[in-house]
Amino acid sequence: SQLASPELPPALRVMGIETEYGISALGQPVGEELHPMQLSNHVVKGYGWTTTTRQAGWDYETETPLRDIRGYEINRAQAHPDQLTDDDLGMANLILTNGARLYVDHAHPEYSGPEVTSALDAVRYDKAGDVVMAIAAAQASRNLGCSVRLYKNNTDGKGASYGTHENYLLERSTPFDRVVTQFTGFLVSRQVFTGAGRVGLGQASQRPGFQISQRADFFEAEVGLETTLNRPIINTRDEPHADATLHRRLHVITGDANLSEISTYLKVGTASWVLRAIEAGLVPPTVRVDQPVMTMRAVSHDPTCRQLLRLVDGRRVTAMDLQEVYLDAARACYERHAGELGESARIEAKDIFTRWQEVLDTLRRDPTELADQLDWVAKLQLMESYRNRDGLGWASPKLALIDLQYCDVDPQRSLFAALVRKGRMRQLLTGEEIEQARLAPPTDTRAYFRGRVMEKYGPAVVAASWDSVIFDVPGKPALQRLPLLDPLKGTKAQVGPVIDASDDVVALFENLEPRRERP
Ligand code: ATP
Ligand code: MG
Ligand code: MG
Repeated sequence: SQLASPELPPALRVMGIETEYGISALGQPVGEELHPMQLSNHVVKGYGWTTTTRQAGWDYETETPLRDIRGYEINRAQAHPDQLTDDDLGMANLILTNGARLYVDHAHPEYSGPEVTSALDAVRYDKAGDVVMAIAAAQASRNLGCSVRLYKNNTDGKGASYGTHENYLLERSTPFDRVVTQFTGFLVSRQVFTGAGRVGLGQASQRPGFQISQRADFFEAEVGLETTLNRPIINTRDEPHADATLHRRLHVITGDANLSEISTYLKVGTASWVLRAIEAGLVPPTVRVDQPVMTMRAVSHDPTCRQLLRLVDGRRVTAMDLQEVYLDAARACYERHAGELGESARIEAKDIFTRWQEVLDTLRRDPTELADQLDWVAKLQLMESYRNRDGLGWASPKLALIDLQYCDVDPQRSLFAALVRKGRMRQLLTGEEIEQARLAPPTDTRAYFRGRVMEKYGPAVVAASWDSVIFDVPGKPALQRLPLLDPLKGTKAQVGPVIDASDDVVALFENLEPRRERP
């Protein structure tokens, strides 16, 4: 049957990136400024509206298909913005035709990309999120009659930080304390290529200066469950959205939101291989950083990348030296397990190792050579050109503004987009490929099923989560819940033909019915 899983691609790492975008609105009538929560809600609703008009899926007016939108009570919200809870506001929560989730998380619009299995797909769906947000901001601006700005960054420069989380499916059998001790040094040192660059030192930018990472100053603990207070380097949140006896979802909260495709590619590609190596027991237990919280900041505060980090065993190494230990472990892991991988996964693995090595070698020689690849280097170079031209010190508000403009999601305002247009930033994907990813889901995870049913049977879907979709099927007295507990089931190969052959949701369920197995 089409739903029975044939052979699953072996050793695939399921992962997804979620990003909360910074938000502000210019030109709101004085005294009637919307609470950031309401503003974010308008952004999410605004995207729902545009997708209805451009592409099948969402109906802004009637709030279908997702009933967990819980009503649109913005008028009440406007009346007493200070007494509101998320429930009162009827926060929007959409599932997109690409399998992503678009919702309001506290005071930010958030895009949670669909589950993918390759680093390049992670980049594809992350960049698609930026386009989603650009469309949503433009629509909210039109609806509200002001200029809604969204920023892909992680701090407002005044003490608040918001996250970009990477999620990796892990084997439940791997002892978690091994992940804690061995992954921490990786996260602390990877900033030299994953950093998005930041003007200002300290959580509230109390001291002038430039640092490699947006997020580093906001970590205060080594391990813990929190994500917004006393933030830990290793987050112990454990909601696998999958079979909990087999898997754990590692929720990585230390990363920066990247604009550079290469930064994101390396961020996800290297982390997923290091996790494999940790699972395989191939990371030397000696790579333990002394005082990781302090060291995380020290690495970020040194754009020369020469800072020596102290290991627990007393050795002092650079961030690149430490990364190279992980790279060697990843290569060893690859040598041992290459046979279990499909061809495209092998090609991607080798590409990741080559780029990782080259970036480390170049950072040792001269980080400025990476200005066309890494966010923080590109941003620093931009800053330096203004500093030289106008004689600006790091405390200059103009530099803080450039920091913000670098990551504006509007391509007309974004300084990152300007660098791309001038051919000064290398890319991995075309605009067309990203647009495709905005509309259509990945083909090799359950996100395929989720995205396709949203596109084809949207109005019949009453709710969806990562691990299930609930339908209201005409003629059936009860709502129909399709569980999707295995992230690798519900792929194009498994359910594509059934969906293609089913013109409506009744036909879909007839075609699914004879089979016991669900996607
Ligand atoms: P919060 O916003 O509170 O951090 P969260 O991390 O629980 O919430 P979402 O914002 O819904 O959840 O995002 C979940 C992310 O995890 C998505 O990017 C999704 O693709 C990814 N994901 C879902 N299931 C899995 C899984 N089994 N393994 C790895 N990643 C997953
Ligand atoms: Mg989230
Ligand atoms: Mg999260």
